[in-house]
Amino acid sequence: MAGDPIGAGAVTRFAPSPTGLLHLGHAFSALTAAAQGRFHLRIEDIDRDRCCPEYEAAIYEDLAWLGLDWPQPVMRQSDRMPAYAAALARLAPLTYPCRCRRGDIRAALSAPQEGVLPAGPDGLIYPGTCRGRDLRDAGQGDVIRLDVGRAFDSLGLDRIGFHDRTIMPDQTHSLTAAEFLEGIGDVILSRRGMGTSYHLAVVVDDAAQGITLVTRGKDLFDSTWIHVLLQRLLDLPTPDYAHHRLIRDAEGRRLAKRDDARAIRHYRGEGATPADIRRMVGL
Ligand code: GLU
Repeated sequence: MAGDPIGAGAVTRFAPSPTGLLHLGHAFSALTAAAQGRFHLRIEDIDRDRCCPEYEAAIYEDLAWLGLDWPQPVMRQSDRMPAYAAALARLAPLTYPCRCRRGDIRAALSAPQEGVLPAGPDGLIYPGTCRGRDLRDAGQGDVIRLDVGRAFDSLGLDRIGFHDRTIMPDQTHSLTAAEFLEGIGDVILSRRGMGTSYHLAVVVDDAAQGITLVTRGKDLFDSTWIHVLLQRLLDLPTPDYAHHRLIRDAEGRRLAKRDDARAIRHYRGEGATPADIRRMVGL
């Protein structure tokens, strides 16, 4: 789009999980992505215990009501398990099975540490207890983790970077291997009983859909480091990012799926129009 320096020619996406009703924050995210390029929808439904078909149907209906459309068929992550398995197999030499439960991790971290335990975008920073275990010894209930130190070594890189069109757009954001290990740690690539994790699936799918601009909330900024590292390891292109502001309630809290009062369909039921929703989120 000429005259639109932000989104010229970009391929964008909105990737909700059908675990609740879309709220004003989702409306803002979807409308922002759609305004910045050719827009794709992806249903992130790998967590079969939390996703439900009614919410997926509501996503299609609410987005169409907002005036959005997207290419069919819609990519659904639950259909993509073979692609995630292939990516996981490719990363196998850099991964290990981990049998630690949250309580084990807390206990291991509490020993040297008093007070608040170190956490990053993926939860507690894993202390590496199972690092070095062989994949052939993986048990049924194990998760698969990336050995981040070895991953950086295999790339011959000591830092990774990406470009964000919203946050300090004239700089490259960059993170060293040491900072990654300290602030994020050995991330999970395959969750218990899931065959993948959010991070692995999102990287594989953004590439498969040819996404060139990932538009999503600022709350996911720190997860982007994980995604950029996985893109390097899988030889996939790194898209541009645009981490946007979060929509907050009157008390300044970020909206969550449980906030049914902020659900798009709640406002629809009260007679709001799509234009009203745009106004409410400051568009
Ligand atoms: N599925 C994620 C969510 O609903 C969004 C992931 C992303 O935009 O990368 O929070």
